[in-house]
Amino acid sequence: NRRVTLKRHVTGFPTEADMEVVVAPAVAVPPGSRSVMLKNLYLSCDPYMRSRMSRHLEPSYVPDFVPGEVMATFGVSKVVASGHPDYQEGDLVWGMTACEEYTLVANPESLFKINHPELPLSYYTGVLGMPGLTAYAGFFEVAKPKKGDYVFVSAASGAVGQIVGQLAKITGCYVVGSAGSDEKVNLLKTKFGFDDAFNYKKEQDLNAALKRCFPEGIDIYFENVGGAMLDAVLLNMRNHGRIAVCGLISQYNLEQPEGVRNLFCIVAKRIRMEGFMVPEYFGNYRKFEEEMAGYLKEGKITYVEDVAEGIESVPAALIGLFYGRNVGKQLVAVARE
Ligand code: NDP
Repeated sequence: NRRVTLKRHVTGFPTEADMEVVVAPAVAVPPGSRSVMLKNLYLSCDPYMRSRMSRHLEPSYVPDFVPGEVMATFGVSKVVASGHPDYQEGDLVWGMTACEEYTLVANPESLFKINHPELPLSYYTGVLGMPGLTAYAGFFEVAKPKKGDYVFVSAASGAVGQIVGQLAKITGCYVVGSAGSDEKVNLLKTKFGFDDAFNYKKEQDLNAALKRCFPEGIDIYFENVGGAMLDAVLLNMRNHGRIAVCGLISQYNLEQPEGVRNLFCIVAKRIRMEGFMVPEYFGNYRKFEEEMAGYLKEGKITYVEDVAEGIESVPAALIGLFYGRNVGKQLVAVARE
């Protein structure tokens, strides 16, 4: 059973050498237990995993990875052995598994059975899985859009961002995205239907770029990056605008997070800025899954994935997120069936 372990806790930018691919002895479902054995098909690479690679002195929002142990992650898996009455050999599931070929899960109740195996299974690491629900809950429950709203999305071509933009179009909003390459900007405009997009790395002045795209200001900012972008957005928000704070990826590898200079805009413009965490919305998953599966089948939502091959590609794929190497949802195909 090949697996990826954390070699040591990380400060600053992670490197491939912080992780190790090792061979672990195979284990079986213990007799009499309610565990299941999963064969992992697709593993997800997600920015929040960076936090788990650090050693926190105060308890963090997710437990730290333990050096020498396999790194946990979301994935799509097949049940190959089961001691649980609700799970049979051959069942397809998604949920929390680990960066390895086979994973023994002691509490399979936390896994979701896959109801739409006719759609690409890998989508359950993305548009039909955790990032999709993040986009859906963050946009509808936190940002509370109305038809005609001006919406801005950062990291817009990524796993979450590309869905937020498309949901905004379905809702009748005007949507602009930022991304870190011309290839990604092109995807936003031609594939995902954004009304406009810009490459933030090529803009001298982010405030000017936002003024150009939103002469009347922004109603909703779906925040994925933080830092200089957040400061520029605050200057361009409209009165009573909403900022759904999904993530702050530009800060994850900094030892000292940057400050926010334009916070007073929240007072002056009476902005509602609200963070959220997707696990709080897992109870809405089945409703979301049906709606999203419908959009995918009707062609109303499209999804771009960046698929790395083989368990040994996990370290590079994960690190690539922090350099913007992924074009679309980053995942690793460990086995196809
Ligand atoms: P993405 O697929 O968007 O991949 C990460 C992208 O972030 C990169 O491709 C890159 O795109 C961009 N990026 C990396 N470094 C920087 C930087 N320094 N400044 C600006 N952009 C940067 O990841 P996800 O869609 O999975 O995640 C997007 C955000 O959502 C993250 O902040 C993540 O933590 C958050 N999240 C939050 C959840 C929640 O429950 N609150 C759940 C899931 C995700 P580019 O080339 O465009 O720069």
